[in-house]
Amino acid sequence: MTLAIDVHGLNKSFGDKHVVQDVDLAVEQGRICGFLGPNGSGKTTTLRMLCGLLTPDSGEGQALAFDVIRQAAEIKRRTGYMTQRFSLYEDLTIAENLQFTARVYGLDRRTERVEQALERLGLKERRNQQAGALSGGWKQRLALANAILHEPQLLLLDEPTAGVDPKARRAFWDEIHALSGEGLTVLVSTHYMDEAERCHEIAYISYGRLIARGTAEAVVKASNLVTLRGEGPGADRLVHELNGKRAVETVAPFGAALHVSGDDRKALEAAVAPYKQVRWREVEPTLEDVFIQLMGRAQDNFQ
Ligand code: ADP
Repeated sequence: MTLAIDVHGLNKSFGDKHVVQDVDLAVEQGRICGFLGPNGSGKTTTLRMLCGLLTPDSGEGQALAFDVIRQAAEIKRRTGYMTQRFSLYEDLTIAENLQFTARVYGLDRRTERVEQALERLGLKERRNQQAGALSGGWKQRLALANAILHEPQLLLLDEPTAGVDPKARRAFWDEIHALSGEGLTVLVSTHYMDEAERCHEIAYISYGRLIARGTAEAVVKASNLVTLRGEGPGADRLVHELNGKRAVETVAPFGAALHVSGDDRKALEAAVAPYKQVRWREVEPTLEDVFIQLMGRAQDNFQ
């Protein structure tokens, strides 16, 4: 087993704001690790420290076998980035955008690399289309082609599919899995549950702390959350009534059904018992149930 990321005790403050606190993280080479958590929780800051873009205030470790503090430039050179701020040159065609990137980064085998990237991401037929005229899904493909042109070993994706339709998202994820199958390690921040479930493993960050880690299955299991699903007349309209009751940590409608979760089974059953028009049964919590619970608990601890 080769670890692509192996860091301990990472900390980062901006002014008096301690935004990343004592983060330990190990990611095996070729894995896709999803970073989740509320906005402003320190995901991007953590990712930037792992890729050599930002120096931690303290902590130690390696990314791609290079020291995250002393050899950041080596890590940066081997990392591909696809961030929301990625700007395509709208007046250039798809092929011209890639050629431009290859030149700016002084890459060798430029023509070959550009042709390979076009082929790999299904962009060949559209090579002469202007980037500015592309739909969200195609722009995203071009952004990914740009990010992997220099054949990185680590790929950093910052909310890569925001604003992309479900079909294009699916195709994008197929491509990410193909890349990981070739040994590329992928770190991805996301707010989408379906994306989180497509990652090999998850890191949940809240208020700068890593509070859950592992496969989606392991994270759900470790939560010890009990979820009761209610179906029947008006189930989805009980949100307000159940919210705030003892033992009820989260209430979330799923279509016409309702998920009520907490970690005390008996008390939870007592909380829903008065609503006899609804059929209640215990179900496996979804990842979303668990994340809502984690978010609520972190807020309580913070306060
Ligand atoms: P997330 O990716 O989880 O939304 P970030 O890592 O972007 O969170 O930000 C965490 C916190 O750090 C936020 O409060 C943000 O405003 C702050 N922050 C991030 N980068 C900087 C910076 N360069 N200077 C000052 N504050 C920053």
